[in-house]
Amino acid sequence: MELNFFGRGAGFNPGEGNTNAWMELNKTLVMLDCGESTFAAVSRHPGLAQWDHVVVLLTHLHADHAGSLASLCSYNYFVLQRKVLVVHPIDTVKELLRLQGVGEEVYDYAPSLPESYGIKAKSLPVRHVSDMSCFAYELSDGKETIYYSGDAADFPDEVAQKLQNGDYQRVYHDIASYDSATHCPVATVENKVPFDLRKRVYAMHLDSDIEQAFLSKGFSVVQVKHI
Ligand SMILES: [Zn+2]
Ligand SMILES: [Zn+2]
Repeated sequence: MELNFFGRGAGFNPGEGNTNAWMELNKTLVMLDCGESTFAAVSRHPGLAQWDHVVVLLTHLHADHAGSLASLCSYNYFVLQRKVLVVHPIDTVKELLRLQGVGEEVYDYAPSLPESYGIKAKSLPVRHVSDMSCFAYELSDGKETIYYSGDAADFPDEVAQKLQNGDYQRVYHDIASYDSATHCPVATVENKVPFDLRKRVYAMHLDSDIEQAFLSKGFSVVQVKHI
């Protein structure tokens, strides 16, 4: 499973693009979130028409994760004559899209990814903000399993354990440079993950020019790769 990134910035760091990821499964484009900058990114040459299907696994509804989902769904429906599959464990996304003029006839919705797509995507609730649910995804293709945190204030003990055991090959995690209550402070991740395992922890949702500091602590940092 090769996970690529449209952007790697935090919500208030738009110069780095939104921390939204993508992978290719045969001719299906699987996206993790679709924030404000991502419809433009995914529309770049050669564009959306190259894919047979588009699936979006949503972590939560903040604008840097769902801000251009309505445009993505509308474009696929009205121009490409097909429906995006929107996956989110709770159906609050329907209300978001309805208020943006995107009715339920425009897209397909599922609380979890059907197994017919060839990977398993297990959603796991994570703590982020008090007024919205947020979910991580555990993605598995039968050969490897990776953990994608979404926006998360904590680095769960279970994730650290599975990284240690080899149950997770890689962990992609929201890491804040400062002592945040809503994003996972780097000090928390340093406490949970021994130095020799940090190479398999990929920092994302960068809030500042912090890449070198994270690398020097032994972490990997995600890189942007356009389609
Ligand atoms: Zn965010
Ligand atoms: Zn958020």
